[in-house]
Amino acid sequence: MADASLPSGAADLHLHTTFSDGKDTPAELIRRAHALGISAVAVTDHDTLEGLEEAAAAADIAGIELVPGIEFSAHYNLLEVHILGLWVDRRAVALNRLVDEYAAAREERARKMVQRLQKMTIKVDFELVRQKAGNGVIGRPHLAQVLVDIGAVSSFPEAFKRFLGRHAPAYVPKLNLKPEQAIAAIHQAGGLAVLAHGLAGGLGGEHVVALVEMGLDAVEVVHPKFTDADQEWLVNLAEQRGLGQTGGSDWHGEGWSEGKMGDFLVPPPCFQELRERARLKPFAADQQA
Ligand code: AMP
Ligand code: FE
Ligand code: FE
Ligand code: ZN
Repeated sequence: MADASLPSGAADLHLHTTFSDGKDTPAELIRRAHALGISAVAVTDHDTLEGLEEAAAAADIAGIELVPGIEFSAHYNLLEVHILGLWVDRRAVALNRLVDEYAAAREERARKMVQRLQKMTIKVDFELVRQKAGNGVIGRPHLAQVLVDIGAVSSFPEAFKRFLGRHAPAYVPKLNLKPEQAIAAIHQAGGLAVLAHGLAGGLGGEHVVALVEMGLDAVEVVHPKFTDADQEWLVNLAEQRGLGQTGGSDWHGEGWSEGKMGDFLVPPPCFQELRERARLKPFAADQQA
């Protein structure tokens, strides 16, 4: 049953599926959003567009608006920053090229992480990690799951703390993508480029401003990691610079998420403004595949 307390037109514009590190398949994710009474969702898997076709079909059936999206990890000032693309054309050539490059780099990285673990006498098999990722892009959560399965650790937090975390011994960084490259690929695909969870994860206000000046169209002002002060600062920035205001739950699945789907919504007027902003976006030269 839809939750009658949610305003019609409310949107959750940051969600993950099994095609990256989420627990729900795209169809399950859409059904969950529908049951909660959410009107529009953006599927924003890490560095992949693979889940969008299934999500679009499920959204049609459920009568939900799907915003096709992606969440790129980029490097800036020795920090990992996440840039969302919203309303991207999933057939755009430059975007697909970047996504293919990213997937290959993630495979290579996962192999290196497995090798590091093996050198530490942890018996991990790359093929098991590959299987965990299924059709999706391979990432550290899949490695963490295998470490739990083989009994090398007893939990995800332990896997990250001892082996996979940013400062742990088996960590290998991802593709060295610049924020400008992510923004350009998103723009060529007709999408809005958005700073995800800015101010969270070590990013200071001056970094957020520098990233905005690289050509972002909007910033997240709603995210489970934000304090009230973060939110206020970001809303102010958006108003001063004429940026769109977006956000969402960053849902990764039951028990895998800080934020619950339905609890972090973009209000209808903000969502409509974003949609209009995307519609008016000048079409950057690109060919569809
Ligand atoms: P990757 O993109 O392969 O670097 O993996 C990043 C993902 O790992 C994040 O999106 C989280 O889902 C997960 N993750 C990162 N740090 C932790 C942690 N300390 N505990 C549990 N999961 C984590
Ligand atoms: Fe994630
Ligand atoms: Fe993120
Ligand atoms: Zn995310």
